[in-house]
Amino acid sequence: MYIVHIASEFAPFAKVGGLGDALLGLTKAFQKNNHQVQVLLPKYAFLDYEKLGAAPYQPGVLTATYHNVNLFFIETPHCFEESTIYTGDDRDAPRFISFTKYALKFLLSQNKKIDILHLHDWHSAIAAPLIKLKLNNLTPGAVALNIHNLCYQGECEKELVKEFPFETPNLLKEGINYADAVIFVSPNYSKEVLTEEYACGLLQTLKKNEKKLYGVLNGIDHEMWDPEIDPALALNYSNKDSLNKIIHAKQKNKELTQEELQLKKTKAPLVTCITRLVHQKGPELIEKGLLFALEKGAQCVLLGSSPDKDMQGHFENLAEKYKDNTNIHFHFKFNDKLSRLLYAASDFIVMPSQFEPCGITQLIALRYGSIPIVRKTGGLKDTVFDLDDPDIPTDLKNGFLFTGYSSKDFNQAIYRALNAYKDQSTHTLIKQGMDRDYSWKKSALQYQDVYEKIL
Ligand code: ADP
Repeated sequence: MYIVHIASEFAPFAKVGGLGDALLGLTKAFQKNNHQVQVLLPKYAFLDYEKLGAAPYQPGVLTATYHNVNLFFIETPHCFEESTIYTGDDRDAPRFISFTKYALKFLLSQNKKIDILHLHDWHSAIAAPLIKLKLNNLTPGAVALNIHNLCYQGECEKELVKEFPFETPNLLKEGINYADAVIFVSPNYSKEVLTEEYACGLLQTLKKNEKKLYGVLNGIDHEMWDPEIDPALALNYSNKDSLNKIIHAKQKNKELTQEELQLKKTKAPLVTCITRLVHQKGPELIEKGLLFALEKGAQCVLLGSSPDKDMQGHFENLAEKYKDNTNIHFHFKFNDKLSRLLYAASDFIVMPSQFEPCGITQLIALRYGSIPIVRKTGGLKDTVFDLDDPDIPTDLKNGFLFTGYSSKDFNQAIYRALNAYKDQSTHTLIKQGMDRDYSWKKSALQYQDVYEKIL
């Protein structure tokens, strides 16, 4: 198949969150299965094109190859001069609408029959109505829209979409209406969105389009995230090693973490949170949970950056309050290298999300032998299985879950986890988490099924 993706992120060089990781993993997996894959991205000013080995392709388009995936960086006049992918304000909608139009213009100029045009989130969703209503010359076999996060919808000025017969100027909503398949990033989330609580105001639209909704779990890229070769680690390890060797390696990584973050040298359990600090991720639960774990004798690290200044300010004040405590550390930048060391060093990774379309953090944590403590929602429910749940087969157990969105429930899960750490019943969870295959191999085949269906 010839598959073209239009997207705003691609890991590792244009990444804000899981969307970037998903693009890399999905496209690499399809390329490996001998499909022809292209990814169209904005020509962001902040990227080092020389380092990417990019070359001019045609006027206004640079091309590069990354892990055999063909990337095209589409110049979009007067847009993407900023130092970040998103501006986070009302400039984003016109930026990404323009980009999508230029991307489609580029595809028209290529004049090749596309099998699947694959859109991602609201940023490129306008391509679906554009193709169905306007661009008669561009006729892909089918249009798929991936929704990585339903809450970001690209609501914009009416003026920007006045050429369309839309009731409301909401780019994601119209993407849902006009795409042939709408793919959510986990089976559980694809069901949750059909309820008032999770539909983010799009319940009627989703119900109307229910027949074309799918849920395919994201994978993680096993080459990108591999504790056996990850250069950020003090000592490498893998699931082929004995449990003793894994625990020893994780201890060495903990020691390096303590050294680098000037934490106390101790064998206490390390509880970590790696996240965007936004409401979705449960910031108030994160704060209370980490302080609870600290009180119970754990060491804690929060690696979190926030687009929301008030939110970041709040956590910076907290960091200031605890600056002399050598058992807790706060780091407010996006830091891939540190995140890798933390995945390896940690005993537990917490994710008390309000909602979670899939969640990649828990999948990386599992691969690095860190035990997830997560809320039973979205993709977390599809991937984390509680040690104390009698209905779960023993060999599937890999973490701790809680249900209610409250500090009380979250702290209880942390409490259970720390107790299990004490009596070493977490040991089997480490190995079972590492053994489970959450690579893109299986997920890519499920995407292929969806493609075949809509074709
Ligand atoms: P989302 O896409 O909603 O942010 P995911 O769990 O799907 O959440 O993906 C988050 C990704 O971003 C993971 O790869 C995680 O390691 C990474 N990440 C989040 N915050 C940071 C940070 N401050 N520094 C480095 N990596 C981060």
